Amino acid sequence: MEQIAIYGGTFNPVHLGHLHLAAKVQAALGFDRLLFIPARIPPHKAAEDLAPGAARLEMLQLAAAEIPNAQVSDIELKSKGKSYTIYTLEKLAVLFPKSQLTLLMGSDMLLTFDQWFRWRDILKLAALAVLAREADELPALRRKAAALAPGRVTVIPAEPLPVSSTQIRRMIQGGGDPSALLPPSVADYIAANKLYKKDKQ
Ligand code: ATP
Repeated sequence: MEQIAIYGGTFNPVHLGHLHLAAKVQAALGFDRLLFIPARIPPHKAAEDLAPGAARLEMLQLAAAEIPNAQVSDIELKSKGKSYTIYTLEKLAVLFPKSQLTLLMGSDMLLTFDQWFRWRDILKLAALAVLAREADELPALRRKAAALAPGRVTVIPAEPLPVSSTQIRRMIQGGGDPSALLPPSVADYIAANKLYKKDKQ
């Protein structure tokens, strides 16, 4: 049966920490297809330093081009309503009725997973694969995984790569160079489009 990894997020911008998670899950579990799904952030929720959906999508396409079997889906960007994960999974389950879906996520998302809208229904449609974002998180992740759904959540015991989009945006705003934390094509895209700079002159 086809295994599809579903990787949602804001991706503002996509960085090496995101790709590290995808690579570690691929190595541990193996999947046939990886779908990056950037979230639509409604205008009233958008922060000042949120890049437009089209730019977040293009950066993901650049990053995905380097990963075998990876694709980017605009399913959430183009949906009008709230982009809750359960709605996206319901659509994907229709599009891929014969596939097994696994949601990829970092530790922050697993630890707050039981606050997600209809999280029990999410677990019916998808398994979860989780990676720590900081050192020493594994015991807490394992406890949470067992409490949520034994057997449905896999914690991958790989070294974390503690990078965040916030850190990258702050570096740029402070005049720093974030390229060591980004795929080269994404670093070039950010520079060429002057993304995340306060002063866009
Ligand atoms: P921000 O700093 O803007 O909040 P972020 O770096 O947390 O962004 P998101 O796009 O919000 O990135 O994250 C999407 C998904 O990727 C989430 O499941 C998150 O836990 C995971 N993730 C992000 N960075 C890492 C990392 N360094 N290691 C593992 N998972 C990560």
